[in-house]
Amino acid sequence: MIDLKKIPKIELHVHLDGSLNIDKISEITKEDKKVLEEKMTAGEKLSSLKDYLDKFDYAVSLLQIPDLIRKLASSLREDLIKDNVIYAEVRYAPLKHISYISMDEFIDIVYEELNKDKKLKVKLILCMMRNDSKLNNMKVINLAKKHLKKEVVGIDLAGDEDSYPTKDFKDLFDYANELKIPITIHSGESTNYKEVEAALNMHAKRIGHGIRSIDNFDLINKLKDNNILLELCPTSNVQTNSVDIYKNHPIKLFSLLGVTYSINTDNRLVSEIDLSREYKKLIDNRLVTIEGIIKSNLNAIKYSFLTEEEKVTLFKKYNDLLREM
Ligand SMILES: [Zn+2]
Repeated sequence: MIDLKKIPKIELHVHLDGSLNIDKISEITKEDKKVLEEKMTAGEKLSSLKDYLDKFDYAVSLLQIPDLIRKLASSLREDLIKDNVIYAEVRYAPLKHISYISMDEFIDIVYEELNKDKKLKVKLILCMMRNDSKLNNMKVINLAKKHLKKEVVGIDLAGDEDSYPTKDFKDLFDYANELKIPITIHSGESTNYKEVEAALNMHAKRIGHGIRSIDNFDLINKLKDNNILLELCPTSNVQTNSVDIYKNHPIKLFSLLGVTYSINTDNRLVSEIDLSREYKKLIDNRLVTIEGIIKSNLNAIKYSFLTEEEKVTLFKKYNDLLREM
């Protein structure tokens, strides 16, 4: 059996505030790890996406002071490197971290910390929030434009899709598209395939989750015709109760139908997962083969929001590491 940890990995869908290291938090806050786990992890399963989203609150409260932000971002960098991730697009919602510093300062600190080791390259995706005002979300788009092709590579929409449907955000995504900001949208995770259709009408090049696409063949064809990648996060989908049990995750059907996807953790702390363990669960449940895992990583490079030139460099690096395995 191949050592899954050694596979070089690309991760396109990982939330900063959901992916901090719990030992580091315990060390900083002097809180008992068990208490932190209760507060910050999803366990086997929660009743809904909304319950899952509540698990982020404590991490957000910590990610406010520069010194803490540095320490916690570096804990994520170390975890990504341990998992043999060589490129990641890390996302977060800028307006949640403005108690003591500006949104620009936050970008500078997080970007610097995540890129401190040559083994790992990281770019940022900024999340608009579904429950936020249009004016605030506009600020996030303008921030993304300001830092585009430097620290930031794209924009996202996150939060409770049951209460705030994707169609209500069309103006914002039209604006982001005019500014040529690459778009990914969380959709079709906990609701239905129509949310994914709505996201495709809003210039999304990638879909966060999109698992409900499996319920409509016209949409499957549309995903293929429009070269859309699904950012799949199987463990997270079971915990949010979007999928009943792991072996029923539609990832295998997506493969058979020729839908392009990458494999992601979503939230390393909340979901208590890394990519090496996610790969093992997928293989143990006969949902994906090793070849499928490598292919999902190559897809992740192809559909990353890097420039074409950067993609070629990353592909060469990936290929070299694969040969060295
Ligand atoms: Zn997500």
